[in-house]
Amino acid sequence: MTKHIFVTGGVVSSLGKGLTSAAIGMLLECRGLKVSLQKFDPYINVDPGTMNPFQHGEVYVTDDGAETDLDLGHYERFTNGVINRNSNVTTGLVYQTVIRKERRGDYNGGTVQVVPHITDEIQRAVQKLATPEVDVVITEIGGTVGDIEGLPFLEAIRQFALNRGRDNVVFIHLTLLPFLRAAGEVKTKPTQHSVQKLREIGIVPDVLICRTEKSLSEDNRKKISLFCNVEPKAVIEEKDVEHSVYELPLMFINQGLDDLIYRKLGLVVKEERGIDAWLDMLESLRNPRFSVEIGVVGKYITLKDAYKSIYESLDHGGIANRARVNIRKISAEEVEHSGAEKLLGGLGGILVPGGFGERGIEGKIHAVRFARERRIPYFGLCLGMQLACVEFARNVLGFKGAHSTEFDRETPHPVITLLSGQKAVEDLGGTMRLGGYQCRLAEGSLAMKAYGAREIRERHRHRYEFNNRYREGFAASGMAFSGICPDKDLVEMIEIPGHPWFVGVQFHPEFQSKPVNPHPLFRDFIRAALEKQAELGRAASEAAPQCA
Ligand code: GLN
Repeated sequence: MTKHIFVTGGVVSSLGKGLTSAAIGMLLECRGLKVSLQKFDPYINVDPGTMNPFQHGEVYVTDDGAETDLDLGHYERFTNGVINRNSNVTTGLVYQTVIRKERRGDYNGGTVQVVPHITDEIQRAVQKLATPEVDVVITEIGGTVGDIEGLPFLEAIRQFALNRGRDNVVFIHLTLLPFLRAAGEVKTKPTQHSVQKLREIGIVPDVLICRTEKSLSEDNRKKISLFCNVEPKAVIEEKDVEHSVYELPLMFINQGLDDLIYRKLGLVVKEERGIDAWLDMLESLRNPRFSVEIGVVGKYITLKDAYKSIYESLDHGGIANRARVNIRKISAEEVEHSGAEKLLGGLGGILVPGGFGERGIEGKIHAVRFARERRIPYFGLCLGMQLACVEFARNVLGFKGAHSTEFDRETPHPVITLLSGQKAVEDLGGTMRLGGYQCRLAEGSLAMKAYGAREIRERHRHRYEFNNRYREGFAASGMAFSGICPDKDLVEMIEIPGHPWFVGVQFHPEFQSKPVNPHPLFRDFIRAALEKQAELGRAASEAAPQCA
């Protein structure tokens, strides 16, 4: 029978419940268990696909084409667990399902209520992940205990534990122990209150994970244990990590959290796989031999989370090359005002991420041109590929005013355009080309060299495509189409042979990179950038005046 872990959060938001859940998943996998993870989000949007990055950060895409919360990215980076469209459930989605059933008459004339109808639907969402091959489902409840909108989810998991039997469920509560500088003390009261709030609802946490800047003293551990009714061993410290979030699983192992969960759930170790690969990865991360600076030219560079998976994947590329990747975050609009030379000079590589809307588009095109002409490794993701094609059309082919019809409907050269299937689409939510598609790679391309395979599968999230009318002309002028979607004949990858490393992809490789298994394109991009940086270093030392 599948076992369940529920992770709730208390005191404040942004404590890192997603990372904590992911790290716990990794601990279980190390002993041969099959995990599946999911996140409940108490907001009313049906999914985060239509939300502004300023509100929500990155939209993460699953292979089966769901637009989801970025915590699912953590789940996939830390584990090989089952992640799909059932892995992210919002209040909006739950209500949509229940209201549909009501309209269909499924409730036989009954009054439809939060308890039991909404809470039953939430329990069904948990149950969907508990397939026979999954040993443990980890469910993270978004928001903070005490929020009005989170209540139906907490009520549902309370009922779930009752139905399933308390031996099959572990409740983990993540809280904050604030350090008061003036008093010189770590404070436990907010945690006590947060646990009280949970107990009012009928949930008694089995494990408390305490976020803290300072180490947890034995006295405080005992105090928390006593006041919160949790055994001392189950009061786990989660100090701010030193180098990287990937250190988190070790912190938990050192405190015996894995043994504790095994004991509480009565799990048996299937196969001790160990954590050697994870330790090697951390070693490369902590002790890099080289360093490289990559420019990310985007619209949301002031936000930490808008390009989360991209920043992580760049780090993974660094791990694969034993290099520290320093990221220069460059506002695309700034490039329009201050020029590429000033903002992009000295970089080992330039990356233009995906995006929507007109703001900063010309700045991104300047950045592409700078990378192409100065022979700086370039990696264009989705919109970054589309704009590389626009730049090529304008400045290599001399197509004045070439553009994507997303930004200029009247352009004389619509090199990026809507497919006929997208033209009639009216709803914004869930209507893009979404999820995993096959892609066939061209023999001898950088793509094929990176992947070492002819056929690959990558995840998409876009409406616009390369306009096949222009393919021949582009190819005649030196652009190679190195990846094609076989059944739809769509351009998925472009390259410029002769340039050290210029690759654009219509998909989002950042959704498939893991620290222990870096994505081949990020690995090769960083390798090329390291070479460029070394070349720049040599040129600078040759140009420097020699001392007599
Ligand atoms: N806005 C572009 C499109 O819809 C690119 C999308 C993206 O970069 N994810 O096709």
